[in-house]
Formats: sequence, structure tokens, C-alpha cells
Amino acid sequence: MSKPYAGMSLERYDWLVQRGSPSDLTEGEIGAGWHYCDHGWDGLLISPIDLEYKYCNCKNQEKYKKSPEYYERYEKAQEAMEKLAKLDEETGL
Ligand SMILES: [Zn+2]
Repeated sequence: MSKPYAGMSLERYDWLVQRGSPSDLTEGEIGAGWHYCDHGWDGLLISPIDLEYKYCNCKNQEKYKKSPEYYERYEKAQEAMEKLAKLDEETGL
């Protein structure tokens, strides 16, 4: 996972993942929907811009969820990227 996150540096994200401790999240991060997702992702740290959020079942996180269309677009973009990657492999580019 190496995508840039809204409102969080990759260093911060890596550090939080390593710590794995919800109490390390700042109020701002929590207010942006960041949480260690125990309902659907086995403690994975996610934010609403992540596709994983679509499958998050945490009760108090529901309000942070983006529209179904957002995640649908995300999924389609990901599929397209995978197709491109495959094409790259096949053509050796
Ligand atoms: Zn969750």
C-alpha cells in the first residue's frame, strides 16, 4: 500500500500501522474518519478515501463513508490500472 493519503503523510501512516494503537490517532485524524477497522478489516488502518472503507461495518464510522458512486469509481479505476499493468507485462514495456 503506497498511495498518498488526504491529510496524512506516508511516514505518519507507516508509523501508526506499526504502532497499531488507536490511542495514537489525533482528534483531527479521527474526525476525518481514520480508524483501525475491526469490523471488516481485522484492525487495518483506513480512511474514507480508501476502497476498504466501502466494506467497513463499524457503527460509528458510517457517517464518514463516501457515496457508493465514489467507491464504484475507485473500483473501476483500480480495475483499469490492473489491466494496464497486465498489458505492460505482456508487451514488455
Ligand atoms: Zn471500520
